[in-house]
Amino acid sequence: MPKVKIDDILANYDKNKLVIATVCSHSSLQIFNGARKEGFKTLGISVGEVKKFYDAFPLGKPDEFFVVDNYKDINKYSDELIEKNVIVIPHGSFVEYLGAENFMKLNLPTFGNRKVLMWESDRKMEKQWLEGAGLTMPKQIKDPKKIDKPVIVKYHGAKGGKGFFVAKTYEEFKKRVDRSKPYFIQEFVMGTRYYLHYFYSPIQNNAYKLSKGSLQLLSMDRRDETTIDEVQRLGSIAELEEIGIHPTFVVTGNIPIVMRESLLPKVFEMGANVVEKSLKLFGGVIGPFCLETVVTEDLEFKVFEVSARIVAGTNPYISGSPYSEMIQPDLSTGRRIAQEIKYAAKHKLLREILT
Ligand code: AMP
Repeated sequence: MPKVKIDDILANYDKNKLVIATVCSHSSLQIFNGARKEGFKTLGISVGEVKKFYDAFPLGKPDEFFVVDNYKDINKYSDELIEKNVIVIPHGSFVEYLGAENFMKLNLPTFGNRKVLMWESDRKMEKQWLEGAGLTMPKQIKDPKKIDKPVIVKYHGAKGGKGFFVAKTYEEFKKRVDRSKPYFIQEFVMGTRYYLHYFYSPIQNNAYKLSKGSLQLLSMDRRDETTIDEVQRLGSIAELEEIGIHPTFVVTGNIPIVMRESLLPKVFEMGANVVEKSLKLFGGVIGPFCLETVVTEDLEFKVFEVSARIVAGTNPYISGSPYSEMIQPDLSTGRRIAQEIKYAAKHKLLREILT
């Protein structure tokens, strides 16, 4: 959606009655809870019916539900939502359910920079961004015959790690690969996983200073993935593979974690470089973003993915994390988003953070 059009819509909004809206899934409880804490009204977009479990969480329940037949139809209702002064907070499932094309066309003020979507979803562009920012990514193996150490095979567009598999030899790769789907082979990085949750504000200078605005580290998590994370209860992976049981990488939850303090300077350096590069490439990754990393035994970070919006890994921290607690008590990523909107509305800067 052209930025001018969004700026026009915003110009007619009642800035004292902004409504924070998102799709009822993923991190919506946290987003609604955070918006409520900052005094906003909230609206939950739901397909087919109002989801009953929200009744069990009154402080995470939106003030109003907006039921649509199909997520892809949201754009059809944009006039109605504009009437309500709605600002949309995208999350991973929001973009997935709407589809990238519909999301880009969405005729509603949306938190963050929508241009980032193409930079994170196209592997080549993602590499240009992250390696251009000086980060180390796992090596790509172009020729499967050259597999001489563990690799992870990823299918394009597979959600939540579905279908991914690990191979240690070409023989193993050949046995497992589904050649009907486009795939991508990457070095399997051995180490511990940390999913780092940053927040970049282009309009506030009260954190780790950048060339424009500042950066915060709000929290970090480790994903819980079935079956890889618990399969060893049955036996070693090698043993299980011999009888045809292969681990899978489907995300089912998130585990809170903290990192040894000596690694924090590197965490900030990586986040800062990613933001600086994004400013040059496409006007900046605004708001929350996550670097998915593995720390090796040499204490080096390898970054295998970037997610440029609120990630579900922030959900363990609805009442703050060991890091956000040192910024402000009770600060979740959802609440930080609401604060940014509140600050921007007060200082007439909404155009800087909405697209
Ligand atoms: P992704 O969909 O790329 O986030 O990957 C799904 C999961 O696979 C991750 O959460 C990790 O557990 C694992 N994974 C992905 N890439 C790598 C890698 N290069 N080395 C080790 N584990 C990986």
